[in-house]
Amino acid sequence: MRVNRLQPRPHTRQSLMLLAGLLCVVLFSFGCERDSPERGRVVLVGLDGVSPRLVDYLMARGALPNFSRLAKAGVFGPLRSEGPLFSPRIWNSIATGKSPEKHGIEFFVTQRASGTGLRLFDSTDRRVHALWNIVSDAGLEVGVVNWWNTYPPEKINGAMVSDHVLPRAVAERTQMADESPEAATPCCFPISWENRVGLLIEREGPLTAFADPFADETVWPPLWQPKRLSHVFAEDDAIMRMAIDVDEQLQPDLLMVFLPGIDRVSHRLWGGFEIREGHEDAWPYGEAERRMAREALFEYYEYTDALLGQLIDRYGKNDLVMVVSDHGFESPHRPGIAENTGTHVSEEAIDGVLFARGPGVPHLRFEGGVSIYDVTPTILSWLGIPPALDMDGRSVAFLKSAPLKLVATHDVGSIDRLEAVPSGAEEEIIMQLRGLGYIE
Ligand SMILES: [Zn+2]
Repeated sequence: MRVNRLQPRPHTRQSLMLLAGLLCVVLFSFGCERDSPERGRVVLVGLDGVSPRLVDYLMARGALPNFSRLAKAGVFGPLRSEGPLFSPRIWNSIATGKSPEKHGIEFFVTQRASGTGLRLFDSTDRRVHALWNIVSDAGLEVGVVNWWNTYPPEKINGAMVSDHVLPRAVAERTQMADESPEAATPCCFPISWENRVGLLIEREGPLTAFADPFADETVWPPLWQPKRLSHVFAEDDAIMRMAIDVDEQLQPDLLMVFLPGIDRVSHRLWGGFEIREGHEDAWPYGEAERRMAREALFEYYEYTDALLGQLIDRYGKNDLVMVVSDHGFESPHRPGIAENTGTHVSEEAIDGVLFARGPGVPHLRFEGGVSIYDVTPTILSWLGIPPALDMDGRSVAFLKSAPLKLVATHDVGSIDRLEAVPSGAEEEIIMQLRGLGYIE
């Protein structure tokens, strides 16, 4: 079966500005009509690489009940990203409202100061305050689970389960079991969460009835490293379990959770959905593999929808639920990419998605005008905290609870974090990034 790629929509700066203007006018009028409801909590779910084209396609088939419910109850549309489309830059822009030049995390890895090889970007490289710092400093409680570059964990008012927790668990499993967990460097703040999270990863689950489509690795092309995809499947479940646990324990005013799975799986399987015309040789496998890839890709979206449902069902009508992705996907521009049949490098993949529902959020499908830089100012406004003038985005009119006077900056004072020592997850993370072709 063949799904032709859609033509990218022509987006000039002018037409975007026009759209943004129109959207603000339309939505502002919605905003005026609402009462001022009691402010609830906020959950922000980051899903790496969810494509507007595929999510649309699957919602139309009724395959994504939770995404569809969100779209029906609130707003849904493309979230404009900014290239180069490397996840850590974008997820830090989403969490700060600032460009990578300002926040400082421009890629996956950077040169060591000593000049001896590469190291991962980590939380100490972020030069500006993130949403969780600002909200925490305002006296509200925050939970952060698995967000990019959150190791070493920061001492926020709440809990931070860093993105080194799961790769370190993998590293520990593959090492000789002579290291006691007590000796390990904390990947969570407060440190007391370390054991709790460890038990959750090892003993609980699964959250959904979905079966791992990669469990039988013999049926998949070995180049796709099906064992790794199987890990990805299990990890998304574990991340959501950790997020639900943080939510149960703290009921924070703001919960942020990041799931990498769709990006990882789409790199291998995207060709099952779309192949660039004239680049049919970008699919160096047979029709049977094509069908399998397509079904597993769809299934992974459905699985993610089910995981999402488990979390957002915990949020009521006074709460703001927001789901975003950092970019979409596309078929490779170069032929013969045997391991990665999906990529995100051009304008065609530049839009992620934004779903939001909550008090005062209209029922609306929008076509543009909202960017990754708008997420942080919008959530701040919703919580009654003024966004800052040095942010590159603005509070999107449809979610603004009340007009707030902007402050000059939130980058005042230092960010307290745990000691910046190696977590033990570094090699595993670098290996995963190499497997995806993100680094050499
Ligand atoms: Zn990404």
